[in-house]
Amino acid sequence: MHPRPRVLVVGAGIVGLCTAWYLARAGAEVTVVDRAGPGEGTSSGNAGAISAGSVAPLAMPGVLRDVPKMLFDPKGALHIPARYWPTAFPWLWRFVLAARPERVQEIAQALAVLLHGAEDRHLEILETEGAADLISHQGQLYLYRDRAHAAKDDAAWALRRAHGLEMRVLDRGEVLELEPEVSEAYGTGIFLPGQGHSVNPLRQAQVVARGVERLGGTIRRGTVTALRTENHRVTGAMIDGAPFEADHTVLAAGAWSAALLAPLGIKVPLESQRGYHVMLPNPGVMPRRPIIPADRKVFITPMEEGLRVAGSVEFGGTEMPPTPERSALLLEDLAKVYPQADTREQRPHWMGHRPCLPDSLPVLGPVKAWPGLCCAFGHGHLGLTGSAPTGALLAAALLGPASNTDLTPFGVERFA
Ligand SMILES: Cc1cc2nc3c(=O)[nH]c(=O)nc-3n(C[C@H](O)[C@H](O)[C@H](O)COP(=O)(O)OP(=O)(O)OC[C@H]3O[C@@H](n4cnc5c(N)ncnc54)[C@H](O)[C@@H]3O)c2cc1C
Repeated sequence: MHPRPRVLVVGAGIVGLCTAWYLARAGAEVTVVDRAGPGEGTSSGNAGAISAGSVAPLAMPGVLRDVPKMLFDPKGALHIPARYWPTAFPWLWRFVLAARPERVQEIAQALAVLLHGAEDRHLEILETEGAADLISHQGQLYLYRDRAHAAKDDAAWALRRAHGLEMRVLDRGEVLELEPEVSEAYGTGIFLPGQGHSVNPLRQAQVVARGVERLGGTIRRGTVTALRTENHRVTGAMIDGAPFEADHTVLAAGAWSAALLAPLGIKVPLESQRGYHVMLPNPGVMPRRPIIPADRKVFITPMEEGLRVAGSVEFGGTEMPPTPERSALLLEDLAKVYPQADTREQRPHWMGHRPCLPDSLPVLGPVKAWPGLCCAFGHGHLGLTGSAPTGALLAAALLGPASNTDLTPFGVERFA
């Protein structure tokens, strides 16, 4: 019998790392395994937004009306290559079903519980690790052409506001007071003063990883080929062909998680929504906060190493190579907001895999059919935001003290 519970965390993305941090702080003997370095996957390249108030699911009532329009516009924010249609279709069908009004209310309520106090949880980790400077508190600014254009998002904003999001509707003059260089294409905005952003998501993940080690945990390289089972219990994993034993195994392998669950007979409709970014070290313009031209769902985020333009939603799985046209479009989006931006110097364009479930909720918590196994994946567009609160919740669920949070809405059992 081991004096401290041994926990194996599969995946050193921001979700696995934050979970490992809270588990190590609660006294567990934690090992995190990843085939790459900490945070080097999807978690390195996101837009940095910490959006605790983003409780509106992606599938809102009326989505069936909007999707075809988005799909058949070659420059649309959503792209599904023709050969991927048969794979994407069942997922999209579930996505449409999740847009029923009563389901949307349930999802928003679950997200509100998960994301409540997200920024405080990030700061709890980063202040402990001496890196609170990673979070900027300048708010976020959404831009619209005019009021009529903004009206299409009214339902989503009303839902967020109903769950406590602080927001201010701005006219053009007020937009310019906040961000003087925004082009005249945008006549109105919505300012979210309470939402922050990470100025360097990769450094943030690395800081959390160092924190795990400081708390006595181990970060190691290795590929998990299977979860180990014995007497209908998960007892660790096979890492590079060798068994690794653990009392609890936390599956935090992002978009690759479903493949490790399948041999246990658990099917999860997890899809990668591939997203892109372009990093401009010397753009000649630098907003103070993330700017989001809402028609394009693109984030223009000021970061330590330059201006990051991030967005696009492309289906295509984890194996297909990136589509260069998708990242090139981000520069067109940038030019609409900042025509004066200097794009001559660019870092290599980047693509990452948002792990997405059709109901916009992650899969979290102990798996009832397989004692010893806990899920922590599927945070989709909100994985940076949701990582630290996920860690706090799962550490309580596995090691106590028991929290009041009901993890049922996030259970893998919902797909049975
Ligand atoms: C363009 C873009 C913009 C985004 N913007 C935001 C934003 O502004 N705010 C926000 O909150 N979120 C944002 N996101 C989403 C966020 O980045 C993701 O939800 C989050 O990074 C997912 O983290 P993760 O730890 O679950 O997965 P990952 O970061 O993908 O980590 C999973 C890890 O598991 C490892 N792994 C997988 N399989 C195995 C195996 N078999 N063996 C060993 N290791 C394995 C991988 O190597 C990887 O390191 C954005 C995403 C994209 C793509």
